[in-house]
Amino acid sequence: MPGSYFVYGKRLHELLLVSPHFWLRGSLQNVLLTFYLALCHAWFFAACFFLPPRMIRPERYLDVKVKGSAAKSGQNCESLRQYLDRIWLPQYYVLYFLLPILSIICSCSHAEMLDFPASDVTSFMKGSFLRKTYVAKGGINRVQATLAGGIKDVRLQTRVNKVERVDGGVLIRYESQDEKRSAEEVFDRVVLAVSPNVAAAIFNPSKPLLGVIPTVPVTSTVLASPNTKISLVDEKTHVPSGGCSYRRGEAQIMAFRTTFSDSIVQTESLHYLEGGLVVRTSPTGDVAEVKGTLDTARFTRTLRTTESRNMVRKAMEAGDAGWVNGKDDVWIVGSWCWDGMVLLEGCVVSAMRVARDLGVNVPW
Ligand SMILES: Cc1cc2nc3c(=O)[nH]c(=O)nc-3n(C[C@H](O)[C@H](O)[C@H](O)COP(=O)(O)OP(=O)(O)OC[C@H]3O[C@@H](n4cnc5c(N)ncnc54)[C@H](O)[C@@H]3O)c2cc1C
Repeated sequence: MPGSYFVYGKRLHELLLVSPHFWLRGSLQNVLLTFYLALCHAWFFAACFFLPPRMIRPERYLDVKVKGSAAKSGQNCESLRQYLDRIWLPQYYVLYFLLPILSIICSCSHAEMLDFPASDVTSFMKGSFLRKTYVAKGGINRVQATLAGGIKDVRLQTRVNKVERVDGGVLIRYESQDEKRSAEEVFDRVVLAVSPNVAAAIFNPSKPLLGVIPTVPVTSTVLASPNTKISLVDEKTHVPSGGCSYRRGEAQIMAFRTTFSDSIVQTESLHYLEGGLVVRTSPTGDVAEVKGTLDTARFTRTLRTTESRNMVRKAMEAGDAGWVNGKDDVWIVGSWCWDGMVLLEGCVVSAMRVARDLGVNVPW
């Protein structure tokens, strides 16, 4: 669908309450639209706080036995799709404003986002209410360096092919990509910090639980200059005046572009960095290379569904049968190893749980 629609760079309440420029220069249509958005937004936040997602019986009964949880009685949390219907959030707001942002955060299509458990989104909205987003000074590299501080044996370009419980420990079979050789080693304990599809592929006992958790590829491209073919020039001309709020450093500008087609509706983000670089992130593994591309990286994103939520909960809690986290001296950590949105917070929470199991003091 060609054309663009309202883009805002400031928080809505700032726009409405403290921006004389907006009142004097904005078109009537934009002023009305802003009021409409503010109302929808307020209603959505109120619903997140005061109308918790329901637990419902799934059509296809899942035999998930999680001690003390709703999953034990065969109940699932309602999906985001069901929740948005129930709270009567206007379709126009959902399609053009809410889903683009949520699906950018989760790097997936709008339909996949609607399959997420509603509890993920309501918890996320409550947790981020009136909070500013910020990145560590020096970027995420600094976090990585801090986390890896003191670890002496770091082997990059090494792919683990097999993790297996053996007498006296856990066997790891791995392949060094640089030296093109395979090797085996036995460790006391193993912590897998990979996506669920990889964990299921390399560690057999986890397969029944983790093999069903959906994952999707995501592509990030660094572009050197605007390229007319992908209409970055258009994006440049209507770049919002505000930007993401960062507690430190310069505000940065992000634009979202949603493609509406019969088969799929998905949003990509264009993150404008200083010096004219643009980072384009698309929720697909297949992005045509355009002129000006400096680098392309592919990631795996783990999705959430009401069913996979039960699987994760089952893997995380002590159970009576099958493999659970920590059994056979193998643990899993990562953004998907907790009951919430698949973000860095999940990495921290799941790593703290493993630290506790291993008797390691968490320094915060
Ligand atoms: C473009 C993008 C932007 C994001 N922005 C944010 C954000 O702003 N805030 C936020 O909270 N989250 C964000 N996320 C999500 C967050 O980055 C991820 O959820 C998080 O990095 C996942 O961490 P992880 O340790 O679970 O897995 P990963 O970061 O995916 O790490 C898994 C690692 O395992 C390696 N690996 C895979 N297979 C093997 C194997 N067989 N042997 C050895 N190694 C293997 C992979 O190469 C990878 O390095 C973003 C994600 C993407 C893709």
